Amino acid sequence: MKDLAEPGFRDSVDLMFDRAVRLMDLSPGLEQKIRVCNSTYTVRFGVRLRGKIETFTGYRSVHSEHMEPVKGGIRFAMSVNQDEVEALSALMTYKCALVEAPFGGAKGGLCIDPRAWDEHELEAITRRFAYELIKRDLIHPAQNVPAPDMGTGEREMAWIADQYARMNTTDINAKACVTGKPPHAGGIQGRVEATGRGVQFALREFFRHPEDVAKANLKGSLAGKRLVVQGLGNVGYHAAKFLSEEDGCRVIAVIERDGAIVNDEGLDIEDLRQWMNRHEGLIAQYPGGKHMPDGPKALELDCDILVPAALEGVIHKGNAAAIKAPLIIEAANGPTTFGADEILREKGTVIIPDMYANAGGVTVSYFEWVKNLSHIRFGRMQRRAEESRSALIVEELERLSADKNLGWTLAADFKSKFLQGSDELALVRSGLDDTMRTAYQSMREVWHGRDDVTDLRTAAYIVAIDRVAKTYRSKGL
Ligand code: GLU
Repeated sequence: MKDLAEPGFRDSVDLMFDRAVRLMDLSPGLEQKIRVCNSTYTVRFGVRLRGKIETFTGYRSVHSEHMEPVKGGIRFAMSVNQDEVEALSALMTYKCALVEAPFGGAKGGLCIDPRAWDEHELEAITRRFAYELIKRDLIHPAQNVPAPDMGTGEREMAWIADQYARMNTTDINAKACVTGKPPHAGGIQGRVEATGRGVQFALREFFRHPEDVAKANLKGSLAGKRLVVQGLGNVGYHAAKFLSEEDGCRVIAVIERDGAIVNDEGLDIEDLRQWMNRHEGLIAQYPGGKHMPDGPKALELDCDILVPAALEGVIHKGNAAAIKAPLIIEAANGPTTFGADEILREKGTVIIPDMYANAGGVTVSYFEWVKNLSHIRFGRMQRRAEESRSALIVEELERLSADKNLGWTLAADFKSKFLQGSDELALVRSGLDDTMRTAYQSMREVWHGRDDVTDLRTAAYIVAIDRVAKTYRSKGL
């Protein structure tokens, strides 16, 4: 009988950390300082709902304050617990360091089934939770900046921002207390799609390096690659949509709560998502593919790229050996347990790790925070100036052609693209693309440059831990 016992999520992250620090030259004291979670605040509060007082439990965990503010989402789910919040806050520290977002790591969570409450009730609960955190500076533009995570989105972030503003009426930077707000409430264009977009940019960057693609026993470009996507929430939906609509990938299966939908020809992701919206989030009856009632089994389908984009721990010791995908991109946080990671490494599966793959969210959160602090939309000053300069060139080219009878005509498509100045969305995408490319290259240097590093996750940890260590050292620690 195989031993399928596994450490918890927090221990799993620590084991991955240990694997990396063994290859580094840190003093034991500094190593311990970086590893430990600085603090976790637990709050239990009551809200009067449906005629009685309901008690909720929430957490805000701060893993590392080597840079402030600390950053990380707030999750609403029944599965939230201290171990999970602490593991996720540690991942935030390393994620921010890897993509050079100048933040420490934090995470929050509330034990709640968001589906069990209507909008007004959820607003009362969210505001009360926010109140508890704000009064302890656990939500603060300079100290602790939450964002959306599983079970939360723009709506909850707008309530939190408003709650902070009500409690801090003279704080001119109040809006920067939380990111992931809707654009009309101080948010930024492209934040909702950001994590999925980041997964797309990460894969594009991976496929720019034929040696890396070969390590995963794959060939060629992203076009035509067969994907299995687990979870069609915000991250999985955007990643699957962009990769299938813009990069020519074929999503051959989507796994959800009620099983998987499989179609070898490739699924129409937008159509599937619309169907889910009309059918209470269920996919079983979707007519565009074959239903497989045992969803997790579909993780083992024959495909090129597996994209876990939902919960942690879905690839574990019990199924790792059966995973056929040669390449896994971790769109979720912690989808692979430490035990599974060892099995997959042994098999030669290439894993693009969570702390890099899903960093698009926090990267665009960083842009939103900067926007809020600068009190001006990106592109507002330069967009029209850029357009005027482009127009000058086009007019001059057309004049030259006419004067000299050269008969040049600029393609209409080129002209319209060239004449368009960058708006906020274009700038956000450009900043995100740059971030994902640069972070990949820093990981890759370690992956290829050292004989003792054989996987991207260890490389990512080494880059991140080294940066955190440097910050601590420069503070005299
Ligand atoms: N919750 C997201 C994450 O896990 C985003 C965090 C943020 O934007 O601060 O990375």
